[in-house]
Amino acid sequence: MDNNKKEVLNQEVNLKEINDLGVSLFIKREDQIHPFISGNKYRKLKYNLFKADEQNEKTLLTFGGAFSNHISAVAFVGKNFGFKTIGVIRGEELGYDLDKTLSQNITLQTAHDHGMQFEFVSRSEYRFKHTKKFINELKEKFGNFYLIPEGGTNELAVKGCEEILKPKDNDFDIICSSIGTGGTIAGIINSTKSYQKTLGFPALKGDFLEKEIEKYTIQNKNWSLSTDYHFGGFGKVNSELITFINNFKEETNIPLDPIYTGKMMFGIVDLIKKEYFKKGTRILAIHTGGLQGVAGINSRLQKKNLPLVKK
Ligand SMILES: *Cc1c(COP(=O)(O)O)cnc(C)c1O
Repeated sequence: MDNNKKEVLNQEVNLKEINDLGVSLFIKREDQIHPFISGNKYRKLKYNLFKADEQNEKTLLTFGGAFSNHISAVAFVGKNFGFKTIGVIRGEELGYDLDKTLSQNITLQTAHDHGMQFEFVSRSEYRFKHTKKFINELKEKFGNFYLIPEGGTNELAVKGCEEILKPKDNDFDIICSSIGTGGTIAGIINSTKSYQKTLGFPALKGDFLEKEIEKYTIQNKNWSLSTDYHFGGFGKVNSELITFINNFKEETNIPLDPIYTGKMMFGIVDLIKKEYFKKGTRILAIHTGGLQGVAGINSRLQKKNLPLVKK
């Protein structure tokens, strides 16, 4: 798990529409850490696995939606580091015919191949997943486990994300990251220098994120959120976003996912075009991964006859 010594590449982003606007943009290719435990999910799991091991737990249990990058990552690390894994998945209808569900969902199919056992629950039950009652019922059913919250965010996850930035990143002015639960950006904020600023792009609607981030970042207040680029909410996409992602890939050869990194990059490019950043600003965007989720989105887009994300 600890291949932290291997530094990932900061790649310069050369896009015609922003090339003459006086700022420079780089992207940290955390997506290249691994195809299943890409980017931030690897960072978030690392110290949790050490802890589970220390506590002598044999099973990891976590929660997620049917296309979750986190579910994919937990299944993979479980298989490779000798833990049993249980995924509590939102949507009880997915459990009615497991073979059919797996044949239509590569995220769950891959997690299943990696040995993950699923517990499908209704959306209303899922809402109570962090209550004592719900957890106790799971313990009765599955025995003891090490619990990893939905999206993987806890203090140990934040600690792992404090390892994303490296000394070579000290000369960037702005660090950008996509946000789901806020754990990743909290780690980034904690590891920035006092002269650097962190700018977050929530992939969902909601005003609870600032509080979440504050919970894990006591000292450093040098951050803000850019909340105009969620495209209607978590998992929501439109053709403008997909077209942006496809053009970006064609020009830079860098793949983005439509749930997180595509929205962030759309926002960064839009802000650069609106001259939000001072001339000479050096921006580092974190590619948090998420590419395993593209197939799931594409099957949804196909049903709606919308353009697909190109491979
Ligand atoms: C999970 C995820 C995020 C969000 O991370 P949080 O720590 O939950 O804010 C961002 N990008 C990708 C690709 C992810 O899979």
